[in-house]
Amino acid sequence: MSSIIQLLPDHVANQIAAGEVVQRPASVVKELLENAVDAKASDIKLIIKDAGKSLVQVIDNGLGMNVTDARLCFERHATSKIRHAEDLFTLHTKGFRGEALASIAAIAHVEMKTKQDQEELGIQIVIEGSKFVSQESAVLPKGTSFAVKNLFFNIPARRNFLKSDTVEYRHIIDEFQRVALAHPNIHFTFYHNGSEMFNLPISTLRQRVVNVFSGKTNEKLVPVQEDTEIVTVQGFVSKPEFAKKNRGEQFFFVNDRFIKSGYLHHAVMAAYDGILKDGAQPSYFLYLSVPPNSIDINIHPTKTEIKFDDESALYAILRASIKHSLGQFNVAPVLDFERDSNLDTPYHYKDLEGAVPTIQVDSTFNPFSDDKVNKHYAGSSSGSGSSYKKPVSTSNWESLYVGLKQEADFTTESTEFSFESDEVTGSLFNDEEVEHAVQNVYQIHKKYIVSPIKSGMVIVDQQRAHQRVLYEQFLTNMTVHQASSQQLLFPLNLYFSSSEMELIDDLKLSLVNTGFVFEETNDDHVVISGIPVNVTESEISMVLEQLLSDLQDGIPENSFSQNDTIAKSMAKSLAVKTGTSLTIKEQENLVNGLFACKDPNVSPFQKPTFITMRVEDIDKKFAL
Ligand code: ADP
Ligand code: MG
Repeated sequence: MSSIIQLLPDHVANQIAAGEVVQRPASVVKELLENAVDAKASDIKLIIKDAGKSLVQVIDNGLGMNVTDARLCFERHATSKIRHAEDLFTLHTKGFRGEALASIAAIAHVEMKTKQDQEELGIQIVIEGSKFVSQESAVLPKGTSFAVKNLFFNIPARRNFLKSDTVEYRHIIDEFQRVALAHPNIHFTFYHNGSEMFNLPISTLRQRVVNVFSGKTNEKLVPVQEDTEIVTVQGFVSKPEFAKKNRGEQFFFVNDRFIKSGYLHHAVMAAYDGILKDGAQPSYFLYLSVPPNSIDINIHPTKTEIKFDDESALYAILRASIKHSLGQFNVAPVLDFERDSNLDTPYHYKDLEGAVPTIQVDSTFNPFSDDKVNKHYAGSSSGSGSSYKKPVSTSNWESLYVGLKQEADFTTESTEFSFESDEVTGSLFNDEEVEHAVQNVYQIHKKYIVSPIKSGMVIVDQQRAHQRVLYEQFLTNMTVHQASSQQLLFPLNLYFSSSEMELIDDLKLSLVNTGFVFEETNDDHVVISGIPVNVTESEISMVLEQLLSDLQDGIPENSFSQNDTIAKSMAKSLAVKTGTSLTIKEQENLVNGLFACKDPNVSPFQKPTFITMRVEDIDKKFAL
């Protein structure tokens, strides 16, 4: 038989490789920005159109390329950054694989212009789907410009796979921020569809962080600085009172490269132990410098994980230095301000064995599972209360869960009451309640409400039940009724990053329908003068943070699902949590409220809200 194995033609091989390197427009942004940084540029412009789907262009004032290199750079495994395998251990550049440009050129239309400082003329090359289209000399400024158009033009399946512009744009912002935060010594500008989104002048690290996020960030930051022989840590962490609901502003850089590390995240969280509310996330911008030979950077091109020689020492140093900073800036309780004595004696890299500090690490902790990290820190947040308007028609509720659903009427305002813990808003509770359809309720384990019914008993999950009640109420407000809002005495200024502001802008109409009144929306903050009636002022920022984090994967296209998402998110934030004790009245009202819902059986997240046990079932258990 004749042999059947053939070498793939280059353009096919490149297209396959491109699948790994280029997943979305943001991958192109990352590769081009990193190349510009590697070319020692001091000024880098990023220009994108349609969330990068039609254009990603990066213009730098770096070293540029000569004619030969300009052709060669599109070849696979063509790199100027390493020559020998040993070079991998002394890497000082972002790139080294020589794959990015070959991959990008295989799946897009690329126009490159480049000129070295000492040359008279530059060169301009057009390449489409790995095919050279043209090459010309041209009068050009020093540096390089890559314009990548029509990404995935020759792989329709990949193109169709791209998410909405909002989602793709978010990914681009993420990549841009990661590079911009790592290089405050480079001036970055970023334009989307002709508008300037970021303009970050060369500045100090602190100013860069503030410029990337918002002016308000400055007051949140506590500096961290630690020099040891194995690592230098510098950067900032946020004061605990500014902790957020989501993990959006958490950055580790190792030797100026953005990385993700569940293990180091754990170390940061350990430094905040006892001073953060359950589930709250601090912001951090931490820059670690380690000798290049102590890390293994030889990772998948698009991955951000990294392997350290001595992770446990890094863990201890990081935790101690953050704890120290929080203590020094008086944001941690005094007792926590214990400087780790290990830090007073510098680490000696070679005889590290003896110097490794004793640390308490959760032995079941798996640094590579994000889930674990979350679980470790995300408890149920303590009963932030909320109030809701109770529907009136609650009589006969027992029959509801056997199929005779009753239409809820959420318009009646006469019976407004509150779930807020007593000391806060006990006075809001209206004692002259309407007659209760349910009586004899009993709360068990601050989690379930049990009540006898004709056929036996019902057990209601308090958190899920309240989510259902709030969800239907928000949805009705948004879709059927003009939501009423409460005027704030003093308008609320809330600060957000520019990407979060984009989301808020997109959501504005739906938010107004829930009762928000926006007096102003600016680049980095909103001024809110009215809020939905069933939310308290102190809950607003939590509600919005939760909403933004729920929408990280994009805003649903149609307004119905947009409303649905907002109602779900707000119900999740505001519902009474497992672990909150409820008064008898609150329990009764919750159960009645649930059974007045259109769909009382499940929470908005499709989890059962209650179960019933018939007397016969109970009898059977006793018969055993
Ligand atoms: P890598 O960055 O891994 O070396 P790339 O495919 O991204 O691989 O780039 C190939 C080569 O092209 C680089 O090694 C560099 O020599 C050259 N190059 C790419 N972008 C630029 C740029 N903006 N300025 C100067 N040279 C560049
Ligand atoms: Mg590169």
